[in-house]
Amino acid sequence: MTVRAGREFLAIPGPTNMPDDVLRAMHRPALDIYSREMVELTDGLLGDLSTLFATKGHSYIYIANGHGAWEATLSNVLSRGDKVLVLESGRFAINWGNAAAAMGAEVEVLKGDFRRAIRPAEVEERLRQDKNHSIKAVLAVQVDTASGVFNDIEAIGKAIRAAGHPALYMVDTVASLGCMPFEMDGWGIDVAMSGSQKGLMTPPGLGFVAASDRAREVHRHANMRTPYWDWTERDGPEHYRKYAGTAPVHLLFALRQAINMLFEEGLENAFQRHRLLAEAVRRAVATWSEGQVLSLNITEAGERANTVTTVAMNGHDPVALHRYAKEKCGVVLGTGIGELIGKGFRIAHMGHVNAPMILGTLGVIEMGLNALDIPHGKGGTGAAIDWLAESVNA
Ligand SMILES: *Cc1c(COP(=O)(O)O)cnc(C)c1O
Repeated sequence: MTVRAGREFLAIPGPTNMPDDVLRAMHRPALDIYSREMVELTDGLLGDLSTLFATKGHSYIYIANGHGAWEATLSNVLSRGDKVLVLESGRFAINWGNAAAAMGAEVEVLKGDFRRAIRPAEVEERLRQDKNHSIKAVLAVQVDTASGVFNDIEAIGKAIRAAGHPALYMVDTVASLGCMPFEMDGWGIDVAMSGSQKGLMTPPGLGFVAASDRAREVHRHANMRTPYWDWTERDGPEHYRKYAGTAPVHLLFALRQAINMLFEEGLENAFQRHRLLAEAVRRAVATWSEGQVLSLNITEAGERANTVTTVAMNGHDPVALHRYAKEKCGVVLGTGIGELIGKGFRIAHMGHVNAPMILGTLGVIEMGLNALDIPHGKGGTGAAIDWLAESVNA
């Protein structure tokens, strides 16, 4: 017997659930890419991306996923042999650094912990030691989707400035933009990047980069530049060059609709919605943890992301739970990655998510824990409901 029918629900951290209005926005003919309408679409989106990044700097749209946008950030500001400091806090900054190494940079990893956030004091100390300023860029992620950590990007920016170090500060917001506050200019960030398919509720295929004036100055002398990613190629007035070729017209229609929806809701409301739903998930997992099998991967409460929760599983196979949720109930959970391969699972709560989606997902996990006889504290979903009832006033 199964109780799945209808649409399968993706509770994985990307690609995420897309609103029907976003899907519908693509169901129309392509635009003439030389038309005025096309130019206006691009101009509007570039301006709105700068609003989302909270920068007066320049934004760029690439036909790429997050990995492509990483390459865009690196190739535009680095020269071969430049040293890059990667702030480890899970998997993704390491992978970004691996791309930099493959492209010819020298990469140093400031060791982190899979269960904790980056510690700003350690960043400051490392940069103070770099007296001749050999480090040219510092890479950090705001939310690491593997560990479920949230890094205090503002505090790390302050640490870089406190060290008096001129390295460019580069931040990955793939799993946080549009879901949690981000202030590129206010926090002293030089380059930020993101992707379409997570918090921004749009199909995979668009990568976003924003660059400060300082980054664009460094760009002038960078020698890793290549034609497709190059900011200078895209800065001119000619629209065709803004995508280094044909514009991804339908993905842009989708993005336009998604950003409209985000602005209609209001960014502050979207941030608050993510905070409340994330806390509901954490309360459920904390209750289940009483059974000594499940636990929240991130040990410090203040370091847990509002977009994804990583759950460690001790002594039981997460595959059985994953399979139960998908095959019996139609909910797809994220698998454990990084240090939690085969030892955990992830619950995404980013982008187009609401109370029934989150409570439904939690309810299905609790069904699975019961059906599979996995020891757990009773009433996790109830704890999530209690939290939301307290937080969302009548
Ligand atoms: C998903 C993700 C990426 C990679 O994005 P792709 O589109 O899969 O290439 C990079 N960074 C973070 C933090 C992510 O969550």
